Amino acid sequence: MATEKHFKYVVLGGGVSGGYAAREFVKQGAQPGELAIISKEAVAPYERPALSKAYLFPQNPARLPGFHVCVGSGGERLLPEWYSEKGIELILNTEIVKADLASKTLTSAAGATFTYEILLIATGSSVIKLSDFGTQGADSNNILYLREVDDADKLYAAIQAKKGGKAVVVGGGYIGLELSAVLKMNNLDVTMVFPEPWCMPRLFTAEIAAFYESYYTNKGVKIVKGTVAVGFDADANGDVTAVKLKDGSVL
Ligand SMILES: Cc1cc2nc3c(=O)[nH]c(=O)nc-3n(C[C@H](O)[C@H](O)[C@H](O)COP(=O)(O)OP(=O)(O)OC[C@H]3O[C@@H](n4cnc5c(N)ncnc54)[C@H](O)[C@@H]3O)c2cc1C
Repeated sequence: MATEKHFKYVVLGGGVSGGYAAREFVKQGAQPGELAIISKEAVAPYERPALSKAYLFPQNPARLPGFHVCVGSGGERLLPEWYSEKGIELILNTEIVKADLASKTLTSAAGATFTYEILLIATGSSVIKLSDFGTQGADSNNILYLREVDDADKLYAAIQAKKGGKAVVVGGGYIGLELSAVLKMNNLDVTMVFPEPWCMPRLFTAEIAAFYESYYTNKGVKIVKGTVAVGFDADANGDVTAVKLKDGSVL
């Protein structure tokens, strides 16, 4: 039977903001039973930035519970027990599919309802997938994305399975750069591809980008700029084997 629960405060989203908000609610005197955090993820809030860095290190990779919030800012690490000690209900594995703001009611995919007095929406953002644009072959195996710990586990498994193999990183922003570095640390042969004239164009000037690009090139990362991935080839098992670029070249 569908359950219904009521809280004074509900934080929707158990990511970085959700975790830091919980700490602040306690500082501000929220009482046991008043606050719930509802999250689609299976684990208590963690420092998401670790996923493209120490989580993928070849030696001693970071793992939960090592990087729950708020260690990223040098604060106390909030383990799942912290939430229960403070009387905060951590409702995990729960996707909210409907928010009726007039009746202050949230409904989960499983049909549970949660009512609240004050709602803080901290659902972050989600990955843009190439398959969303209908890019040919984008559903092939070993085309991976990185947002949540589950994605990082898949990536880690692929790195282990493809030791010494070739990786193409599509995207030249923060995460593309960090992933290229960590893939290289894992001894993969790495090529980055991105459409802009230089990496991180929203933040870097051409000069700063040139410094980083030459650093990466010296480490053996190949950089292909000014073009995008328009399709993927796969073998008989459905595993990706080639990335086709708009300029006609193939990686
Ligand atoms: C790989 C990676 C590396 C990064 N590195 C850095 C870095 O070095 N420095 C930096 O400043 N930033 C970095 N970022 C960005 C940073 O992680 C985000 O800015 C931050 O996580 C945003 O916090 P948030 O709480 O708004 O969203 P998130 O941390 O994304 O949390 C959103 C939460 O809401 C949940 N959710 C979403 N929809 C629903 C729903 N309908 N029902 C229930 N739950 C839902 C999600 O599952 C998730 O748990 C990185 C991001 C990634 C992905």
